[in-house]
Parts: sequence; C-alpha cells; structure tokens
Amino acid sequence: MNIILLGPPGAGKGTQARHLVETRNMVQLSTGDMLREAKDSGTEMGNMVADVMARGDLVTDEIVIGLIREKLEDTTDHGGFIFDGFPRTLAQATALGELLEATGKPLDHVIQLGVDDEALVTRISGRSTCGNCGEVYHDVTKPQPADGKCEKCGASDFKRRADDNEESLRNRLMEYYKKTSPLLGYYYAHNMLTRVDGLADIKEVQNSIAKVLDA
Ligand code: AMP
Repeated sequence: MNIILLGPPGAGKGTQARHLVETRNMVQLSTGDMLREAKDSGTEMGNMVADVMARGDLVTDEIVIGLIREKLEDTTDHGGFIFDGFPRTLAQATALGELLEATGKPLDHVIQLGVDDEALVTRISGRSTCGNCGEVYHDVTKPQPADGKCEKCGASDFKRRADDNEESLRNRLMEYYKKTSPLLGYYYAHNMLTRVDGLADIKEVQNSIAKVLDA
C-alpha cells in the first residue's frame, strides 16, 4: 500500500509516518529528510539547497523528483511507501503519478492532516528531535526526558531544525497555501483524498489513519 501524507509544516506528517514504519513495515520517503541529509553531508546539491531551506522556500521540482525517483528504484521488499512532504506542487504530483505508473505501483490513499494555522506556530516553535532515532519531542506537549536520554533509543543528542523559527514557518506556510494546497483539490478530484483531524491526540490520529488504510 502506498500513501501520501498531506498537510502544512507541523501537521504531524513525520510523527505519523514513523508510526506507520514501526507498525506496518512501510518505508517513509521524506524529501525534507533527504535534503537535510544532503545538506549535512555537504554534497554539491546539499550546499545548493541550504539557503532555500533556511528561508522556508521550496526546492526545485527537478531536485526533489530526482530524489524520489532514485528511492523508488532502489528500495524493495516492504509494506509500501509513505510519501511525507512530497509532492508539494502539481508538477511533483504529476511526476509521482508517472513514476508510480511506470513501476507498476498504485497510489492507494492521500491522507490530509487537517490543522489550524495558530496551532502550527505553537507546535513548530517548541519542536526538537532525537538526533539518533528521530523521535519527536515538544517543549510543552512532550518534553525531552529529565535524564537527557531519548525515551526510544537512549541517545542524548537532541536537535532543533534551523527552519523551525517563526519567520521561516510563516514563509513555509505561505508556500504551502500557494503551491501545495491545490493538491487537495487535485487528489479530491481523483477520489483519493481522506481528511483526518490532525489536531486530535497523536494516538487518535494514528487510529483514524489506520481506519482509512484498513477499510
Ligand atoms: P520538511 O521537512 O518536509 O518540512 O521540508 C523542509 C524543507 O525542505 C522545506 O521547507 C523545503 O525547503 C524543502 N522541501 C522538502 N520537501 C520538498 C518538496 N517536495 N518540494 C520542494 N521543497 C521541499
């Protein structure tokens, strides 16, 4: 089963994707993670996209479609793909449709994580992750453990994203409304879209998604 998680920054796409990886042997394809990896390892492409990402602008379609194409070709033997943060433009959505068709894979569901903008600012401004396993923490709703060790893997290296600040977030939101939100109409028209309440408790969101996938 292959699905897209669609929603603005901070909607919980990454958190939900991680749960699906753990429970369903699915593979998370996050273009944001791939780009951050390229940036951190200082590849030519990584250096090219660093400023764009810091501002909260979108990287070119060509780059992210190339990243997804490579992963689709190289990854085998799993319970399906979760596209997280991709597609973000209509051109990316069209390219994904073509790539899946060419490799004989269906797109089964597009799940919209619905949230309101005010909540996003709060969520994003307190966010941090474990640098080892990627577990997500939040200063208010899920603080890092008092002993300084990740509750999942025990590592003590926590990270905050450089673009998780209010100015960049407002720009990321603007990009979302201008370029990504048209995809809701696109997938609705393709009869693939299901909306779940992304503001509900994490477990409730997990259950809502499970219902869609198991229907
Ligand atoms: P994310 O981790 O999904 O929030 O992505 C972080 C940043 O990476 C975004 O603000 C963009 O600059 C870039 N990015 C990630 N995915 C895409 C995409 N599909 N298209 C264009 N830019 C992307």
